[in-house]
Amino acid sequence: MTFETLGLHTSILRAIADTGYTTPTAVQQQAVPAAIAGRDLLVSSQTGSGKTAAFMLPALHKFAAASENLNVVNGKTPNQERQSARSRGERPRFQAAKPKMLVLTPTRELALQVTTATDKYSAYSRRVKAVSILGGMPYPKQMQLLSRNPEILVATPGRLIDHMESGKINFSELEILVLDEADRMLDMGFIEDIEKIVAATPESRQTMLFSATLDGVVGSMARRITKDPLIIQI
Ligand code: AMP
Repeated sequence: MTFETLGLHTSILRAIADTGYTTPTAVQQQAVPAAIAGRDLLVSSQTGSGKTAAFMLPALHKFAAASENLNVVNGKTPNQERQSARSRGERPRFQAAKPKMLVLTPTRELALQVTTATDKYSAYSRRVKAVSILGGMPYPKQMQLLSRNPEILVATPGRLIDHMESGKINFSELEILVLDEADRMLDMGFIEDIEKIVAATPESRQTMLFSATLDGVVGSMARRITKDPLIIQI
């Protein structure tokens, strides 16, 4: 099997060619076509299995496909509209960031790895930006990143809650929610934060959950936040 047979957009295939990957990993072979088709996923897989690309490639594919059919209002995308409002000297009213995709991770390190991988996979994806929101990062820096209204947010749960509660992030346009290493997030005591974040996202979202195990508490949360998920055990 090749990445072409997974049905990915040419802009993503170009980026994959640059990475040097030749064959999709087992988790990618199962997850990518199902995620492109819109299924929720519950995936039991380990670090090193290629799980980041398993959720990010189909997400980038969907954004590429959507931007071809385009959500242009008055000939402008929402970010272009913000820029021209700025150049007309309008505001300084703060507009909440409205990401289309959120990836929750247990640690700063994992969030940064996911963001770096996303930058690679989206090298030819026009208008797609990924930003990490992490505990320990200075607020002014985070506000500056959020003011660019990135499509993709990669975050640890605690700091994200702060921004949600102060109205800096609004999830009303969220299309894809990913919980990466969900079992570790629960072990670290993030369950209430996760429940709060999930409750702030639209019911219509697509949800993909990755975890070393799908038993016990993580399994019951996984089933509560997904709809008719495809279960993938690697
Ligand atoms: P992950 O499980 O997402 O942390 O990925 C583990 C490592 O595998 C990372 O260094 C990726 O760059 C690499 N990787 C992901 N997918 C592939 C692939 N299809 N072929 C070769 N390497 C890959």
